[in-house]
Amino acid sequence: MASSIIVIAEHLDGRIRQVTYELIACAVKLQRFEPLPIKVMILGDDVVGMAREIAESSGQDIVAVQAPTLQRYNGEAYRDLLQNLLGQYHSTYVCAAHTSQGLDFAPALAVALAADCITGVEDIVEKDGSICVARPLYGGKIIAYHSLGSKTSILTVQPGIFKPLECEFQAPGAVEIKSMIYESRQSVSLGLKQAAADTSGIAEAKVIVAAGRGIGEAQNLDIIEQLANVFPRSAVAGSRIVCDMGWLEYKCQVGVTGATVTPELYLACGISGAVQHVSGMRNSGFIVAINKDPAAAIFQISDVCVVEDLTTFIPIFIETYKKFKSHK
Ligand SMILES: Cc1cc2nc3c(=O)[nH]c(=O)nc-3n(C[C@H](O)[C@H](O)[C@H](O)COP(=O)(O)OP(=O)(O)OC[C@H]3O[C@@H](n4cnc5c(N)ncnc54)[C@H](O)[C@@H]3O)c2cc1C
Repeated sequence: MASSIIVIAEHLDGRIRQVTYELIACAVKLQRFEPLPIKVMILGDDVVGMAREIAESSGQDIVAVQAPTLQRYNGEAYRDLLQNLLGQYHSTYVCAAHTSQGLDFAPALAVALAADCITGVEDIVEKDGSICVARPLYGGKIIAYHSLGSKTSILTVQPGIFKPLECEFQAPGAVEIKSMIYESRQSVSLGLKQAAADTSGIAEAKVIVAAGRGIGEAQNLDIIEQLANVFPRSAVAGSRIVCDMGWLEYKCQVGVTGATVTPELYLACGISGAVQHVSGMRNSGFIVAINKDPAAAIFQISDVCVVEDLTTFIPIFIETYKKFKSHK
């Protein structure tokens, strides 16, 4: 059988996740360099409806893998079922999402297939005649290019980077249904617990002051709150690290695994600008970043770059603002 580019669809609660269409866009970009057929695979206990939806909205051929025991996502099941299927489809490239789910099964699948696994892919380019994938290193400060070898390459693709394609196809893709019996031996999925609804106000705020690890310690959130108080309709948010450390609640987290926000003004304080954070705030109206490292990646997407120690700069800024206001 000829080689192909395989996309592993991601879905939750009976709905296709947006990242699936981004993966298809990534596969189409790969196809420009190597004209292989694309197949999208979707796994679950009842996925035929979603498979048809993808086939109709993308024009790509789909394999719907129906496994009655796969009511919930299970990494072991994905690894075993895909190992079996990918052998049959002789895949050259496999595109999975760089999400908790993709990161759970993709490396294990690569081991099972003796394939390469490249994570956090942000672009596909040609360099010196070979196809390369680009991935950021050191919080986006440098970009590494990996040429794709002769083995199967499993890529986890960063969400929010590839734009889903506008439909330009003649007919919906074909849907092939495969029924498989599967019993996991080592793990049982108990389900997913929904995070508490966002009551932090970051979704509605016009101004967001976001704290990163650069604030140094939880007490310095006080400066961040004081800065937020300068603006009406403002809210305090944070990077994932700040939430992981318990300095802010998870409902305040901005990024790929947190909230996506589009305030008029986003003030990033002590945030490096990792792609997972940036994908949740890059569409803000105006971005100001305060960071003591002039090479911080956040400056690449900022309208105003303040290279200062935030613990010195923010109090002076607030004081100056108050003086300015009292003289008006
Ligand atoms: C699957 C996955 C999902 C993820 N999802 C998210 C997500 O949704 N949201 C998210 O934010 N991250 C997410 N991350 C984590 C992300 O990769 C980064 O690790 C995180 O965003 C970094 O947070 P930070 O910028 O606060 O910290 P750091 O990267 O440590 O940056 C701290 C910055 O502060 C600066 N600094 C230090 N001291 C000062 C000072 N005194 N004054 C001014 N600047 C200072 C430093 O120069 C540095 O640039 C995810 C990671 C993975 C793998």
